[in-house]
Amino acid sequence: MQEAMINRAKQLLADGTVDRVIGWKRGEFAYDITPAVFRSAEELDADFVFDDFTSANVSKYLVKESKKEGKILAFLKPCDTYSFNQLTKEHRVVRENVYIIGIPGGPKLDAEKIKAKGITGILGVKNENYTLKIETVYGEETMPYYEAVLDKCASCKSKKHVVFDELIGDDGEVLESNRFEMVEKLENMTAQERFDFWRDQLSKCIRCNACRNVCPACTCEKCVFDNPNSGVENKAPADSFEENMFHIIRAFHVAGRCTDCGECSRVCPQNIPLHLLNRKFIKDINSLYGEYQAGEDTTSRAPLNDYKQDDCEASIVHERGVE
Ligand code: SF4
Ligand code: SF4
Ligand code: SF4
Repeated sequence: MQEAMINRAKQLLADGTVDRVIGWKRGEFAYDITPAVFRSAEELDADFVFDDFTSANVSKYLVKESKKEGKILAFLKPCDTYSFNQLTKEHRVVRENVYIIGIPGGPKLDAEKIKAKGITGILGVKNENYTLKIETVYGEETMPYYEAVLDKCASCKSKKHVVFDELIGDDGEVLESNRFEMVEKLENMTAQERFDFWRDQLSKCIRCNACRNVCPACTCEKCVFDNPNSGVENKAPADSFEENMFHIIRAFHVAGRCTDCGECSRVCPQNIPLHLLNRKFIKDINSLYGEYQAGEDTTSRAPLNDYKQDDCEASIVHERGVE
């Protein structure tokens, strides 16, 4: 796949369709694959990487990149195409300045899950009949492949590309996903148990802002959390109330726009399952306003930006008997 992507990128650069390419290159470690812009065949040959650890969604980078002169080639996995569509709908990207090649999705791997098995010094991985063979500086290690899969890939909602100019490989289908299972478990807890669960998780937050910075729905040029008068700009939260509010406010801001791309949880250095908060919103929107998938198209009106006479009233939370 990597070779096919590099070859096609070189062709599109050579024939002038695009003048640069956004993809990924290796960071400090083998599993540390990071978005990068390439401007020549030589740069692609030297640094372009697409492997089991290439999970970063490049859609958000296109907010800035698509406003520059010329056209950029972007390789988008199925989940990334939902983010791009949502950004198009919100007029945050300039669609005609991006040439999109849809590429197959994961499953992608989570280096943290490999390290949690005590495996360090990772140099590379290979999936052999669902056994993951891990080459390390200390020799070869193995573990079951599916135990190393990223959470967002384990509950993938769709292998279908919702926007592309061309595809490498076949397109997939929208999947029957188990993504609301954990949300249902939380719903079945008592209010106190649920509060304790979230306090336990959110108290780990070090306010690094990685979740906000990576989120394709968080593209506000002036973010509310950068307001020095708000009291929420601290590096470390002042108290538990403020600690909760950062996440609750962000979840409300992206409600109805979050495509469930899973990037917020993926990048959190404290392993806080932020996607559960966002999925609760998605699940509630589905049940209160009808099934809706943000980013599925660029024209439909989002439930929270629309008004219908039979929309539920604000009192619905009380009527549903939510504790
Ligand atoms: S809130 Fe998380 S899952 Fe939702 S769009 Fe942002 S990064 Fe993706
Ligand atoms: S947290 Fe809210 S204000 Fe800040 S970038 Fe995200 S959506 Fe915008
Ligand atoms: S990425 Fe994790 S630690 Fe960083 S601000 Fe977000 S929740 Fe907190």
